[in-house]
Amino acid sequence: MTTAIRAAVLEEAGGGLAVQDVELAGPGPGEVRVRLYASGVCHSDLNAIDGTAPTRCPAVLGHEGAGVVDAVGEGVRDLAPGARVMLSWMPSCGDCDECARGLEHLCASAWDGMGHGGLLDGTSRLSRGGAPVYHYSFLSTFATHTVVPVRCCIPIPDDVGFDVAAIAGCAVATGTGAVWRTAGVRPGERVAVFGCGGVGMSAVLGAVAAGAHPVIAVDVSDEKTAVAQTLGATHGVRWSGGADATAAAVIEASGGGVDYAIEATGRPEAARAAFLSTRARGAAVLIGIPRADAVLELPALPIPRMERRVLGSIYGSSRPARDFPALLELYRRGRLPLDRLISARQPLDGIGEAFDAMHGGTALRVVLDLEEA
Ligand SMILES: [Zn+2]
Ligand SMILES: [Zn+2]
Repeated sequence: MTTAIRAAVLEEAGGGLAVQDVELAGPGPGEVRVRLYASGVCHSDLNAIDGTAPTRCPAVLGHEGAGVVDAVGEGVRDLAPGARVMLSWMPSCGDCDECARGLEHLCASAWDGMGHGGLLDGTSRLSRGGAPVYHYSFLSTFATHTVVPVRCCIPIPDDVGFDVAAIAGCAVATGTGAVWRTAGVRPGERVAVFGCGGVGMSAVLGAVAAGAHPVIAVDVSDEKTAVAQTLGATHGVRWSGGADATAAAVIEASGGGVDYAIEATGRPEAARAAFLSTRARGAAVLIGIPRADAVLELPALPIPRMERRVLGSIYGSSRPARDFPALLELYRRGRLPLDRLISARQPLDGIGEAFDAMHGGTALRVVLDLEEA
């Protein structure tokens, strides 16, 4: 049961994306096919396109999506065709050492499988003229349809739009989870967020919802820190004069340093500034994915002397089945205005423009509207 679908294919790193017909095989055991209605466009996709993150090609990128299940494979009992779902890119196994100790977002088997471009059995459901096309992070959401492990699917309420559900599954989970789960921010704690893209703005929303004060947004763009202030940040600091000078500005704005400095750019200089912005017992929380060869230089003395810390955070330390419905419930109650993170929409054929908007540095989150594709 193979279906012709429309998908944006990356031929090789350094090239562009071309929207074309691709064949999609039916779902195997433990898999479902999803008719996609929305996909977020994320910096990690850009890293795959420009080669910063090596990716097996040809590939269909995209790893933030939502849609409706339209076919289920053998052994799938929890979901039936017609179910509205959002997607997680972490189909944790439940069996490995990491899953056993509650760290499902670090699942050893899922992380191992992510790089090979297949689904959990290592093979691809995507092809073109009989030759394989590879999946990306198990999801491949720059397409009209996808086949994913059922463990990637989280059901969503009828009144939540696919666009919001799509971004909740990566950017929002990553940013809010870093604040709530990795850092565990409590009311009244001081938070700074470095980098005001989709993930950083989600961290701002998470910090505001947690009752942090002040919440300081840092970016190279005054326009973006101004938007962060409309989302509840109390201060905007423009990145200027390098890491040490920017950290000094954050320390001044916060009245002596922050409890948590969330870093969402992946740049070592921003991670350094985040660390330098912290107060005693404070922590830099590093979310942004640096280049594989990046090295972070930090002053060593304040780590023991002031108990200052560096925490890593991937996927917001999330457990999708527990955390994603909670995100959407906060959105429905008006406590987390996720729709305000969506700054532009494009059809699948407009994916080049979507990445241009991200490159231009003015977009929060661009969402592909896949309904007409
Ligand atoms: Zn992402
Ligand atoms: Zn596992």
